[in-house]
Amino acid sequence: MRFETIATQGYIDLGKQNHAISMPIYATTAYSFDSVEHAVNLFDLKVEGDIYSRLTNPSNEMIEKRIAALEGGIGALAVSSGQAAILISILNIAKSGDEIITSDKIYGGTYNLFAKTFKQMGINVKFINSDNIEDYEKEINDKTKCIYTESVGNPSIKVADIENLAKLAHKYSIPLIVDNTVPTPYLCRPIEFGADIIIHSTTKYLSGHGNAMGGIIVDSGKFNWEKTDKFSMFTTPDESYHGIIYTKEFKNAAFIAKARAHLIRDLGCCQSPFNAYLTMLGLETLHVRMDRHCENALKLAKHLQNHPHINFVKYPYLENSPDYTLAKKYLPKGVSSLLGFGVDGNGTKFIEALKLFIHATNLGDVRSIITYPAGTTHRQLSDEQKLKAGITNDYMRASVGLENIEDIIEDIDNAIKAARK
Ligand SMILES: *Cc1c(COP(=O)(O)O)cnc(C)c1O
Repeated sequence: MRFETIATQGYIDLGKQNHAISMPIYATTAYSFDSVEHAVNLFDLKVEGDIYSRLTNPSNEMIEKRIAALEGGIGALAVSSGQAAILISILNIAKSGDEIITSDKIYGGTYNLFAKTFKQMGINVKFINSDNIEDYEKEINDKTKCIYTESVGNPSIKVADIENLAKLAHKYSIPLIVDNTVPTPYLCRPIEFGADIIIHSTTKYLSGHGNAMGGIIVDSGKFNWEKTDKFSMFTTPDESYHGIIYTKEFKNAAFIAKARAHLIRDLGCCQSPFNAYLTMLGLETLHVRMDRHCENALKLAKHLQNHPHINFVKYPYLENSPDYTLAKKYLPKGVSSLLGFGVDGNGTKFIEALKLFIHATNLGDVRSIITYPAGTTHRQLSDEQKLKAGITNDYMRASVGLENIEDIIEDIDNAIKAARK
């Protein structure tokens, strides 16, 4: 099946759900056991089945299978938010004393998790202030457990060189983890370029309607955890499951099996089946929404590029963008609807004059949303830190929605005028 068909109909077994066409919400905490032997086998991970909804839930399983297929992966784990997906995917391979490498232009929430919480936990994150692969390579050592990147950065709107980052990671036998939230698998398929683990905030375009927090981790199934002794957590016995060895029991599906059996069991950041249902509704129209998001954003970007009172426009599909070549390679259908621009005038007046754009911190909603990073999300940073994160005081980040493009452009034009009054 092709992408659009999987997005709309993939991995639903109508016979298993009383022939209900729409996905049921399994609002249950626990599942009855057929016998004591059945329960024992479930607890020893010897047979597949549901025990308790912190670990598995049939509604969650439906979005796990569908999103894994859309990314070209072999399995997935739905969790409570994008932040939880990042946390679980890193803790699955790194412990105190280990290091990971990433760009300093990543999502603010991820930056805080890495720079503060992971530091407190003894995991040292190295932030690279460069696009050169050699600058990443310089920081790799025996303790490095992965390279982490965003396919399209938020709010920096930079496109990652996924193929070369994957080659570098594999040269040192470590995986490349890619946050693919902004383009979604419809626009970018990192696994085809060598990425090993994909994470998403499904809160954004995948659910698409700004109504369901969620995250997901997808495993490509291609990384060989047994090649070195760096990943002994998969290749040596887990005492909390009677000495099970994940790579022996689950072969190339070891990553998700351990993330679920060990980390979701212990940390508890599971997804609500109701949110899985809302995410499934979003998935069914993902391709249609993304096409229009891209079309509207490109039209707005081209309009702003020629506007006398716009200082700059960041949108990788503009031909003069420094990321244009990377964007055409990794995002052949479009670069989603995240757009940055600098307003010549008073930022507060600009924001407050907007009528159609909603002032909020979210993206990937059907409604157009504007975020003013210097005034909100990045407010606590010094001017120097802001610049490093690619944020200037005139920087506006728009998530262009599905409204009529003429109305979108008029709204922005009116606010630009108001900013200069
Ligand atoms: C929003 C976002 C996250 C965090 O996701 P939540 O669902 O809000 O926890 C992570 N990465 C990127 C790129 C995001 O945009």
